[in-house]
Amino acid sequence: MTRLVLVGPPGAGKGTQAEALSAKLSVPHISTGELFRAHVAQQTPLGKEAKRYLDSGELVPDTVTNEMVRERLTEPDAKAGFLLDGFPRNTKQAEVLESILAEQGTSLNAVIQLSVPEDVVVQRLMSRGRSDDTEEVIRRRQQVYLSDTAPLLNHYADVLITVDGVGEVDEVASRVLNALRARA
Ligand code: AMP
Repeated sequence: MTRLVLVGPPGAGKGTQAEALSAKLSVPHISTGELFRAHVAQQTPLGKEAKRYLDSGELVPDTVTNEMVRERLTEPDAKAGFLLDGFPRNTKQAEVLESILAEQGTSLNAVIQLSVPEDVVVQRLMSRGRSDDTEEVIRRRQQVYLSDTAPLLNHYADVLITVDGVGEVDEVASRVLNALRARA
């Protein structure tokens, strides 16, 4: 079974790697950032609530985020596995994820940390051109990563796999797949 989480600072390449890996592993790529952006684009009530957080680089409140993830993870395609990108982003969310999985009688197989130096991360974000990629919001998202998300690396010490995230997409994806195989 393939129940995986990708962690790393904004700009580490989580979305890109999640795309590549979900194709190779045949599990859905579930990105909370993309789910939020779809809600914002469709102007749903959830999107209207989430927009100001995305625009400022803050985390959307846990109650909203956790409920959205719970619904997504109970869809049939996630039964055989998933690759979560951008969730959990704090220890409270990690606990909720554990309880969702426990209700299904499962747990995470691995948490993959993409390790990328800060200058590479900032360079990647500046060239990406997403609407929340202004210098100020980028800086705030990095701060939020350090204060709220980085503690997860300790939380997940037992299942953590750290992979060098610098390189071509396929090269990094191969590193992840090799590391997963080595663990299995
Ligand atoms: P991302 O696409 O992962 O860079 O996420 C973009 C934005 O969506 C973040 O800056 C947050 O505002 C919001 N977001 C994504 N995932 C989460 C999460 N797990 N918890 C709270 N907010 C999130």
